[in-house]
Amino acid sequence: MRLVSLRALSVALTAAWSCLAAESAVAATAAEPAQVAAAAQQVRDQVVAWRRDIHQHPELGQHEVRTAKLIADQLRKLGLQPRTGIAHTGVVAVLKGGKPGPRIAIRADMDALPVTEPAGLPFASQVKADYRGQPVGVMHACGHDAHVAILLGVATALAAQKEQLPGEVMFVFQPAEEGPPVPGAPFGAAMMLSEGVFKDFKPEAVFGLHVWAGLSVGEVGYRSGPMLASADEWSLTVRGKQTHGSRPWDGVDPITVGAQILLASQSLIARQVNIAATPVVLTAGQFNAGVRFNIIPDEAKLVGTLRTFDAAVREDVIARLRRTAEDYAHAAGASAELQVVNNAPATINDPALTRRVLPSLQRAAGEARVKESAMVTVAEDFSQFANTVPGFYFFVGSTAAGIDPAKAPINHSPQFLLDEGALEVGTKTMLQVALDYLHGG
Ligand SMILES: [Zn+2]
Ligand SMILES: [Zn+2]
Repeated sequence: MRLVSLRALSVALTAAWSCLAAESAVAATAAEPAQVAAAAQQVRDQVVAWRRDIHQHPELGQHEVRTAKLIADQLRKLGLQPRTGIAHTGVVAVLKGGKPGPRIAIRADMDALPVTEPAGLPFASQVKADYRGQPVGVMHACGHDAHVAILLGVATALAAQKEQLPGEVMFVFQPAEEGPPVPGAPFGAAMMLSEGVFKDFKPEAVFGLHVWAGLSVGEVGYRSGPMLASADEWSLTVRGKQTHGSRPWDGVDPITVGAQILLASQSLIARQVNIAATPVVLTAGQFNAGVRFNIIPDEAKLVGTLRTFDAAVREDVIARLRRTAEDYAHAAGASAELQVVNNAPATINDPALTRRVLPSLQRAAGEARVKESAMVTVAEDFSQFANTVPGFYFFVGSTAAGIDPAKAPINHSPQFLLDEGALEVGTKTMLQVALDYLHGG
């Protein structure tokens, strides 16, 4: 990959933008898509190089030290003054335009996953790390390498037209989107907010994107209102009374009670929740009990996830699950205790902001390639920012042409493979969204 010198890039971009300024004197509320595309194209090689570099050196949440340094170094080269070490390894910087205008924030997440990358790409990760006491491979299997590179590209293109730019843009590079290294510890977007990122600089809108295997490269997905689910981690402890496996009547069997509660929880979703109004998923991923074939243990433990799109429905399902667990346990002479930890609220795109931004997506990506997305049961802690100020989040297709996106390995799979064309589409669309918003479009 040829690297354009940052200085040459900056000269070229400044020339492109002064041309844009002359043209946009007539219709100042939207940036000319051809100019935006040209600006994205000019940073493309650099964005690809950043992405490959970060891909080869992935870091787990709250350990994004090298990534944060790469980001801060680039932001300084653009003349910005990044703040580092936020929520452990987060980086933010504000670009102040030469004209008055609105304040916005654009967020990219930085962390990789405990996934071992198969050999193949010349820049494949060979990084190993410790994750919660286990040796693991580390891979950018969710595509956050692309998000960082795209946001650096957007920052570079916007910095080049600083003087003509109305308003201010905060670039938010967020660590640990996938969760903290220690269960229950503060992390990610919520931690950045608690450390005050939106306190001195309160944006009137926040934007984020995710590269997504479920769409072809060139396509963009969005949804007004709930788009991604809220993610809760629940754990249920059933306490019985240990006894010999041949004489269950002498004790209380927590395994049978746990199994009854698990099946009843599925009936609860199917029979008690209006799933026609809003989807709910309740899954147990762990069921642990006992040490030996002929001993009924004292305790059984189930751990799982709850996905919802509506805060009131979430509360209701948790209350019903607790009641179901306690009543089944009570019926058998056991006890049950349910604990629920919320990892991320639902990601809800502000409807008014969505109406305002959709034309920008269509101008940048082409109207036919902007698709309304179904609700997706994965979660994203971008929602923490979007619960603080109006937010808009969209998908950028990353599956290569010729491959059915419905069958492509999804994000988090070791086979997740990003078509690098998504980098230019991501840069172009985010740049168009930001510029149109700042210009009042
Ligand atoms: Zn992920
Ligand atoms: Zn992700």
